[in-house]
Parts: sequence; C-alpha cells; structure tokens
Amino acid sequence: MAYQHRFIHDHALDLPLGKIVCVGRNYADHAKELNNPIPTEPMLFIKPATAAVVLEQPFSIPDGLGCVHFETEMSVLIGRKLTHASEDDAKKAIIGLGVGLDLTLRDLQDVLKSKGHPWEKAKAFDGACPLSAFVSPENIDDLQDVQIRLSVNGTIRQDGNSAFMLNQVIPLICYISQFFTLEPGDVVMTGTPAGVGPINEGDQIVVELVGVLSAQTSVLS
Ligand code: ZN
Repeated sequence: MAYQHRFIHDHALDLPLGKIVCVGRNYADHAKELNNPIPTEPMLFIKPATAAVVLEQPFSIPDGLGCVHFETEMSVLIGRKLTHASEDDAKKAIIGLGVGLDLTLRDLQDVLKSKGHPWEKAKAFDGACPLSAFVSPENIDDLQDVQIRLSVNGTIRQDGNSAFMLNQVIPLICYISQFFTLEPGDVVMTGTPAGVGPINEGDQIVVELVGVLSAQTSVLS
C-alpha cells in the first residue's frame, strides 16, 4: 500500500505528503552516544515523500548497504502553510502527532560524514521513514512531556522523554519555517532520544508514545 496520512481509527486523510523535515542531534544523550558534539543550532535535513511507508505494515530495509539503525521520533503532521512562522502560528498548524522511525544507513552515514558529504543517501532512501497513524493534538496535554519508546523483539531499546529535546517542538517548527516553507501534509520529525541501534530482517518492533498511541510492525525478511 502506498503511503497515505491517516488518523488512528479513521480513513486516510486527503492531504498529500510533500516532505519530511528532520532534526539531527535533538537530544543530548543521543548526540553523546554517537560521539557527536551537541549542536548550537538545529541541524536540519529532509526526507522526500518517497521515503515514507506505513509503519503499521511490515517494511523492508535496504540490502547490502550495511547497518540500518532505528531512530524513534515523535512526528508532527502540519496542517497549514508556515513561512517564518510565529509560535502561535506553529501551534495552530499542528493537526496530528504520531511516531516515526528515522531509519538510517549508519555505516554509509559514517562514510559520508567522514568525507564531509551530505547524508542524503543514508537518510532519504526509499522506505527510510515508516510513519504511524496520527492522533489529534488534543490527545497530548504537553508536547514536552511525552515518553517515546521502542522495543525490538520484546526488549525495550529506546525510552526517552520529549522533555529532554534540545529544541522543543514549537520553536523547532518556527526555526524550520525560516528556511523551508512547511505545507499542509508535511511532517516534522523531532529527533531521537538515546538507544539507537540496528534492526534486522524478521525483527518485531513496537513503538509507542506512551499512553497516547502504540503501533506494532516488523521488518520483512
Ligand atoms: Zn533522527
């Protein structure tokens, strides 16, 4: 099934996915685990619409390109056009919250980083962004107090709280909109907490915004 935005317990949303804007190293504990410095400004990159797949369906990972890492992130569905947005505009533009995997070809990324090349091939490949169905923002009281959890084959591997984001969701959206106009249907990925690691064919994965939504999937073999 081709990717289409959906709300939980609901039909597909009539909203095209344009792009997915991501932020690197948005949690200090994750920057540290990869021996990266903590950035002084948000580090942005984009995944194209062709990277998105439905998270709740088994997905495949690239073969023969080295290690594929999961990064579990709170995702934000944008419902209004935002250019140089104010915090108020950004808040009003959020129409959905979900969870996504920023899949990363880590070996390839290390090579690209060492050469000073862009990360695109490691981050923007087909299938690099499984996205869950969204919930409406009313389901979350405080965007900066959401527990983000991932387990692989029954073992919890990531369990972090959005309280520890270096750039909180609303200011991050404002910052993004200074460079990239966000359009209805675009998605913002808000960075991963620590605990990233490899996934392999056949792995069973559960992702959660704890108390808000939970989704199960697996890696095709
Ligand atoms: Zn990420």
